[in-house]
Amino acid sequence: MNAFGNTAPIELATQSILLLQDTKAVSLALAARLNTRFNIEIVHCASMQEAKEAVDKRRFDCAISGLQLRDAQSDQILSFFEQSCLPVVIFTATHDPRAADHYAEMKLIDYIVKEDAGSLNRVVTAAMRVLGNRDYGVLIVDDSQVARIELSLFLKRHNFRVFEAKSGREALNTLAREQIDLVLTDYHMPDMDGYELTRTVTAERCNGEFRVIGISASTDRRISARFLKAGASDFIYRPFVAEELQCRINNNIATLHQIRRLKTMAERDVLTGLSNRRHFFELAERYSQNMDLHDGRDCVVMLDVDHFKKVNDTYGHDAGDKVLQAIARVLSQSCANTPHSVGRLGGEEFALYLRGCDEKDAIAFCERLREFVAMTVIESSDHMIQVTASFGVAPVYPSESFSNHLNAADQLLYIAKKSGRNRVFGESSLKQ
Ligand code: GH3
Ligand code: MG
Ligand code: MG
Repeated sequence: MNAFGNTAPIELATQSILLLQDTKAVSLALAARLNTRFNIEIVHCASMQEAKEAVDKRRFDCAISGLQLRDAQSDQILSFFEQSCLPVVIFTATHDPRAADHYAEMKLIDYIVKEDAGSLNRVVTAAMRVLGNRDYGVLIVDDSQVARIELSLFLKRHNFRVFEAKSGREALNTLAREQIDLVLTDYHMPDMDGYELTRTVTAERCNGEFRVIGISASTDRRISARFLKAGASDFIYRPFVAEELQCRINNNIATLHQIRRLKTMAERDVLTGLSNRRHFFELAERYSQNMDLHDGRDCVVMLDVDHFKKVNDTYGHDAGDKVLQAIARVLSQSCANTPHSVGRLGGEEFALYLRGCDEKDAIAFCERLREFVAMTVIESSDHMIQVTASFGVAPVYPSESFSNHLNAADQLLYIAKKSGRNRVFGESSLKQ
């Protein structure tokens, strides 16, 4: 979702994993499990030398490594990953005390010993988790620089976007500026203690979209209860036990992730990733009630692909789906970094809510969209498909309900269809 509340189609960037293993069976088993996830690229290296060359040449998001290679043993492998600052999940056949020490020192993402059939899945889960972490911003609030550095190193190694604040006030400023999902806050701080910060930030935010974990080195057991009562979702005592710190952070992130997933499923259209009908109505109703914030000049647009049934009949339903996805991309790219919203109402019908646009501006905007749609070439099984679309543009009046405006836009769309299709029709077009 961008700053204006628009949903854009989900663009998944490819992430790459370095797989360092010289046991072929293990490499194949891991690669088979990872390959089932799309947007993941796996680079397999069977020796330390190959891995060094690969890391010199390009960037990896994380690594999965064994501890026995033909040209390196565990000490060299562990220090290679420490120096390259690459998040690594160690997967070994037998227990390795050096790796266990590194894990306790929080230098590894995970250390998994092959014990049962579930071990491979645990390796994949750990690697997938670290890849997903870069979507989350974590704010560390602590007046001690040493404490901030320790946590920051740990969180950066786990791929989080990390922010630091020395005090509660600084934390509130950072929270107002940045996209933060999780706050890790110390209790004792000079200007505002951890409870007060927790109370302040949780009062303004929905618990499902934001989490606070309290931290303290005190032996007073009541501190954790007070943090939880203030609105924190968890608490960790210092000095950290690496595994506990990791599990508590993972659990909180996993909850946030599930909630994001549910929200996405509830709000987005599956085929195009645009806002679905219900979410578009929610946004549009909210915007139309706050129109004065945008000069009181909003417009609603309905858009329908021309002769779309013919596309399905000629090229097949899959090709039709590709056309709808391409149109969704044109619409969402045109609305990116604007205050406008776009949604798929159903079938080959889309709608736009244009904020701060009078009818003239809205018609000009839709004319450009109409041209973009007509110019877009969609490739499907050796066919190059081009379609056009018709638009109905209606102004929004604060006194009326949003569905009345959408009906008006639908009527104008109908007239655009009747007058030959591939055109934009507004109320002013009727007078011409
Ligand atoms: P007009 O120019 O008058 O809008 O004609 P049209 O053919 O575009 O309109 P019509 O309403 O007759 O046909 C719409 C077609 O869209 C019929 C339906 O099967 C198809 N359709 C609806 N949803 C989807 C979808 O998700 N994928 C595909 N491929 N087709 C869809
Ligand atoms: Mg149509
Ligand atoms: Mg239609």
